Amino acid sequence: MRAWNIQRLLKVPKVRSAWRRRVLWTSLLLLLLLLLGILVWLAGRYEAGQEQTRIERATSEAVSDIRAAFSRNSRSLLATQYGDPKPELWSLAAYSLLRERREMVRIEWRDSNLKLIAETDSPYRSPVFDPGERPETPNSELAQNCSNARRFSGPSYSSSYYVPLDDGLGIEVMELCLPLVESGRVEGYLVALYALHDVLEEVLGRQVTRHQEVAFTEGDGTRLAVMGTARRASRVFSAQQLVDLPGTTLVLRLDSWRGSPDLFPNLLTALVTALAIALVSILYQLGKDTRRRLKAETDLADALAFRKAMEDSLITGLRARDTQGRITYVNPAFCQMVGFSASELVGQSAKAPYWPPEFADEYKRRQDIRLAGNSPPREGFESVFMHRDGTRFPVLIIEAPLINAQGHQTGWMSACLDIREQKRVEEISRASQERLQATARLTMMGEMASLLSHELNQPLAAIQSYATGSINLLRDEPDARRDVEIAIQRIAQQAERAGKVIKSVHDFVRRRDQAREAVLPQSLIDAVLPLINLQARKLSVQVRLEVAPGLPAVQCDRTMVEQVLLNLARNGMQAMDLPGTRNRVLTLSVHRANDRRIEFSVADQGMGISDDIAAQLFTPFFTTKVEGMGLGLSFCRTVAEQHGDTLVFLPNQPQGTVFSFALPVA
Ligand code: ADP
Repeated sequence: MRAWNIQRLLKVPKVRSAWRRRVLWTSLLLLLLLLLGILVWLAGRYEAGQEQTRIERATSEAVSDIRAAFSRNSRSLLATQYGDPKPELWSLAAYSLLRERREMVRIEWRDSNLKLIAETDSPYRSPVFDPGERPETPNSELAQNCSNARRFSGPSYSSSYYVPLDDGLGIEVMELCLPLVESGRVEGYLVALYALHDVLEEVLGRQVTRHQEVAFTEGDGTRLAVMGTARRASRVFSAQQLVDLPGTTLVLRLDSWRGSPDLFPNLLTALVTALAIALVSILYQLGKDTRRRLKAETDLADALAFRKAMEDSLITGLRARDTQGRITYVNPAFCQMVGFSASELVGQSAKAPYWPPEFADEYKRRQDIRLAGNSPPREGFESVFMHRDGTRFPVLIIEAPLINAQGHQTGWMSACLDIREQKRVEEISRASQERLQATARLTMMGEMASLLSHELNQPLAAIQSYATGSINLLRDEPDARRDVEIAIQRIAQQAERAGKVIKSVHDFVRRRDQAREAVLPQSLIDAVLPLINLQARKLSVQVRLEVAPGLPAVQCDRTMVEQVLLNLARNGMQAMDLPGTRNRVLTLSVHRANDRRIEFSVADQGMGISDDIAAQLFTPFFTTKVEGMGLGLSFCRTVAEQHGDTLVFLPNQPQGTVFSFALPVA
């Protein structure tokens, strides 16, 4: 799984993916900006809509206020005529009405021919007309308006017109004509003059005019009277509505300058804008983060590629196992070493396919020990693997715990080295060493033999000549007793001398007795084990040790006994080196024979010893091997005998032979 991911990571076409990513990011950014723009625009529009609705509502409210004020004024005007007052009295009533309703600037009472009966001007401003200035002609504005009033039998309003005043200014006014009807006949008229500006100021009041500009306009937009201050703004909300009056129509227009033209018109838009800014900055941060990730990913891919190249170029086999003993990873060198592919090895747990069947149990035990948490030796250990074709080969394994990023152990990583070549070189040097030693021993033996023959030759030759002389004397001169006696004495002397030569050899051998020392059986085994193992691996033999615990030291000639153990072990292993022998186990055991002796035995599972071979087994120079010398066993027996015991051999069960000897307790 992991390996697959790495492969995938390494195979990503970098250029294409970078290009795609850039396009995706750009479209995302554009879409987001578009979305945010639409949102801000919609929020603005919504707000503008709200403002427009508000101003339209305010306009219609203002129109209905104006209508209500006009009809109330009409009723109040009519009320001044109750009880047929005299003109002076009427003037008083009219005057108090003008004081109360500031929008009216003048009230006139006229008869049915429009002749002025009485008039009153507002106390708040100077009279609009000079006395007698108002024409009463039938085609005047007044006459037309009042004829309309008569026709309606109700109030009629004239079109507005401008009246210049004394102070240089002027006002826009509108006339109201109210017919005074009695028993179906028009008896007279009440005429009121409205100042349009005052209508706006008095009827609508400050709350309407504070926030917006209110104006009466003509159809073409010309302002007749304005209230409130116009402000400069890029965008103004306006609403206008007709004030339909009998006789004329006014247009009321409201202009609002509030808010909307600002960048952040209100809370909603400000909120959306703030969110948009936050979103864009998050997007920017995300983009930055992605760039960082991308870089890390590229670095990782590079590092992985580097690691893979390194692993592939290694000649050391690498193998990782998890805490259950399953193989999780092998490098190409390992696969090549054992001849199995990675897919055949990864996931294997119990018995790996490269374990030789004869060692499988031992390896399983070793693996269990490892999984129980015991660390292997730092310098590694030697083992034997089996290639797919069945060839066994020695390997050196160095194991280290696999620790993950959290500091937990997730398994073991092993480096495996094929040490076949190294072993071969070792074996060659060992064999040549052995041959050298054997040659040296032979040379020494030859020298000793020639020395002995030379030493013995003289006394023997002397003995022979004395004996021949004596025989001659006895035959020719029977009386030469004295001479014969001397000759026999000489023979005895020479024999003694030969005996001394023999004894000196014997002494030489005996002198080794002084080389005896107290040695622990285990240390004897430890001394020979490396050499035995060396040969065992070569012959695919498993060496088993059975040393009883707590054994005392033995008194022995250390070098000799070690040589005996080596000889017996080598003979045993060679006896098992036959094609078809599956169980190749050599057992070295040491245990107590009795109070005084410790028994050493070497057991093989070879072909055993037949009776005719057994008969000559200890004969010097007897051998059945091509390169054998036939001296090994006789040497072993001599050494065993020198230590007060003898070398015995018995058949092993189910097959093979057991050689054993005992050494005295020190
Ligand atoms: P070498 O090993 O040089 O032949 P040895 O004296 O050690 O000389 O052995 C003599 C012969 O005894 C061997 O050639 C072999 O035939 C036989 N022999 C020795 N040990 C064993 C054994 N463990 N199993 C079978 N035969 C053996």
